[in-house]
Amino acid sequence: MKMFELSRANDLAKAIAAGAKATTAQQGANVRFIAGGTTLIDLMKLNVETPEAVVDVAHLPFDKIETLPGGGLKIGAVVRNSDLAYHPIVRKDYAVLSEAILSGASPQLRNMATTAGNLLQRTRCLYFRDTAMPCNKREPGSGCAAITGVNRMLAILGTSEHCIATNPSDMNVALAALEATIHIQGRKGERSVSIADFHLLPGDTPHRETVLEPGDLIIHVTLPPPAPASRSMYLKLRDRASYEFALASAAVVITATDGKITRARVALGGIGTKPWRSPEAEAELTGQMATETVFRKAADAAMRDAKPQSQNGFKVELAKRCLVHALKLVTQTT
Ligand SMILES: Cc1cc2nc3c(=O)[nH]c(=O)nc-3n(C[C@H](O)[C@H](O)[C@H](O)COP(=O)(O)OP(=O)(O)OC[C@H]3O[C@@H](n4cnc5c(N)ncnc54)[C@H](O)[C@@H]3O)c2cc1C
Ligand code: SF4
Repeated sequence: MKMFELSRANDLAKAIAAGAKATTAQQGANVRFIAGGTTLIDLMKLNVETPEAVVDVAHLPFDKIETLPGGGLKIGAVVRNSDLAYHPIVRKDYAVLSEAILSGASPQLRNMATTAGNLLQRTRCLYFRDTAMPCNKREPGSGCAAITGVNRMLAILGTSEHCIATNPSDMNVALAALEATIHIQGRKGERSVSIADFHLLPGDTPHRETVLEPGDLIIHVTLPPPAPASRSMYLKLRDRASYEFALASAAVVITATDGKITRARVALGGIGTKPWRSPEAEAELTGQMATETVFRKAADAAMRDAKPQSQNGFKVELAKRCLVHALKLVTQTT
């Protein structure tokens, strides 16, 4: 295997050219970028990823967090998760993002993991990580062992008959509620994609997880200015208090005046095949008084299309309670 390490600004073109030699930017890519390595190296050890060449982008000059002229925040692709979570502006104006990152993995992992790597982390589905088992995501057309197998952790929204794998990222859920934009430098120049359009539903091509093409390098992520007078939070429910992926989680950004909700952004984690923004819940909340009855209606709306599998039916009620509780906490006056 070849390893290329890049560090200077003019190495960006080299990184993209190297990446563009890949046959695909999706599962099975023969050239891979590497940043913190906390997803990729794991998968290489398991032979799930077997790239011929790895291009180290961790030292490219995209390591800053900057405020944008009209408000908003620009987060470099190689900013470490710890630096992002503890940044004073993130803690003050984008609490949901800080809380989501700090709820994930461990301090050591967060010191390594990067913004772009977290956006692109892979599912924790057991069968995806076991090359002895059929998995349409790892090996298109081989089947899906999870649908009739161990699926307790897997998705209930956005699934298909070909794949029910959950997107495991906490950070992505917060970015969905914050309506982040992903900025990509590719062979044809720079483009921007909203987080809502960045991850793909599995459909009949679960090996395609994002809109990225060979050579596409994420360079930064931007957040719009915080909504005036909004409050936000991330609530994660899991089997143990730390170092565990979500069974259900909720990212909420709410503006309320005199107890009436004027703006709501809701995204759910642990239950979707991609970070799951819920316009249904947002519609139920907007213009309503912040009461438990309203929160419950929003949660019911968010889960209306849920399709549980043999072992994960409990997630429907768990996700509802998670959302209701997050809404209670974020709207309560002290
Ligand atoms: C034990 C363990 C527990 C964990 N628990 C949690 C948890 O509770 N919650 C959670 O959210 N996450 C959790 N994680 C996942 C962790 O957050 C991710 O592994 C991490 O965010 C990935 O970032 P990275 O920089 O290390 O990515 P890498 O491994 O370097 O890369 C990941 C992918 O992104 C691609 N890539 C990287 N940078 C770029 C770029 N700039 N442009 C294009 N492609 C790029 C790589 O090619 C690769 O495919 C856990 C991980 C482990 C190992
Ligand atoms: S759920 Fe998706 S990742 Fe898991 S075995 Fe099925 S196809 Fe593979």
